[in-house]
This record gives sequence, structure tokens and C-alpha cells, in this order.
Amino acid sequence: MIHKILPVGVLGCNCSVLGDETTREAIVIDPGDDVSGIVEILRQHGLTAKTIVITHAHIDHIGGAAKLRALTGAPVYMHEADKMLSDQLAVQAAWLGMEAPENPGIDTPAREGDVIRAGSIAANVLHTPGHTQGSISLYIPLESKVIAGDTLFAGSVGRTDLPGGDSATLARSIRSKLYALPEDTVVVPGHGGLTSIGEEKRHNPFVRGV
Ligand SMILES: [Zn+2]
Ligand SMILES: [Zn+2]
Repeated sequence: MIHKILPVGVLGCNCSVLGDETTREAIVIDPGDDVSGIVEILRQHGLTAKTIVITHAHIDHIGGAAKLRALTGAPVYMHEADKMLSDQLAVQAAWLGMEAPENPGIDTPAREGDVIRAGSIAANVLHTPGHTQGSISLYIPLESKVIAGDTLFAGSVGRTDLPGGDSATLARSIRSKLYALPEDTVVVPGHGGLTSIGEEKRHNPFVRGV
């Protein structure tokens, strides 16, 4: 599997491009901004975007989705519990002092247990609310990777003081969905460096798993 991680936008959201080496089909996760950089990665690797996945509707993760869909034709996949947040992109943009991007809406609603495919890539959808009500994580068993959005970070967890956030729900999602994955699973967080499930279970100061 091709996996390129591109930090996009002023908040440095980790946008992931997953590509199948044979079929050249791709999944783009969290195109928050810098759509031209994302399109360039697709072009360089000869990839065609099949699905645009939004882990949650904060502007740094969803901001470039409408533009990327216009350029690639790929549908936007997101959980409906975050629709309220994407309907408030103008408010989110005002917080950051930036121009409001177009709201992409939802083409395909995300559901726990869905499997998103691109060629031989299979990403299992985990509903992991807490940072926002509609937050999802993508687990790719064959690669031992989980794309965690802003649910879990290296040594930290997502903030829960924004609208829709809830700390008890976040801790439950992390313990029941993410810490349940094999310990050697690499965690690709929404911001910052990579970590592993085992490392966070033992050392995360906010949500301990053991
Ligand atoms: Zn967020
Ligand atoms: Zn974020």
C-alpha cells in the first residue's frame, strides 16, 4: 500500500493518501487544506481518488473536501452526527480568522462496521465519538495501522471543550475501540507524529489502557 502523509493547513492536519499499487485506486483522508498538494501526490503516484473520508467535521480536516471532490469526482464519506459542525464551517472559519470553505455535505454516511475499499486496501470504520459526536477512525488490519483523526495523539487525546465534545465519551471510545486493537498497530493521529496502540495504552497520561 502506498501511504503518504501530508500536513495541511495552518493547524497542520495530517492528510493521508492511501493508494493500491496495482489498481492505482486511492482513499484520501482529511483533506483539510492544500488541495493542490494532495492532487500533486495523486498525480505523482498515478492514483485515482475513489473516496474522500472525513474523520470529523472540524475545518482543519474538512476544509478542502468540496474542492477535492470537484477536482476528482470522489464522494465524501462522513458520519452524520458531525453534520451540524459541517453546517457551521463559517463559524469555524471565523474562529481561525480565515475565509469559509464550501461545505461538502455528506455523499455517503459513515457507519460503524463499514469497510472502505480501494483495490486491495480495506479500511474498517470505527465510530469513536468524544472529540466530536461523529468522529470516526479507520483501521487497516493488513497494514497494522489506524488513522485516528483527533481522537488519539502521541501522548495526548483530542480536546473535548469544543461543541459536541465529551471527555467520558472520548475515554470510552479510546478504551473500547482503539485500545482493543493489537498493540503493534501504528497510530496515525490527526496532528503530530506517529505512535502505537501499545505505547499509548501504557504511557498516555490522559487515558491509560493497562
Ligand atoms: Zn478536531
Ligand atoms: Zn484537527
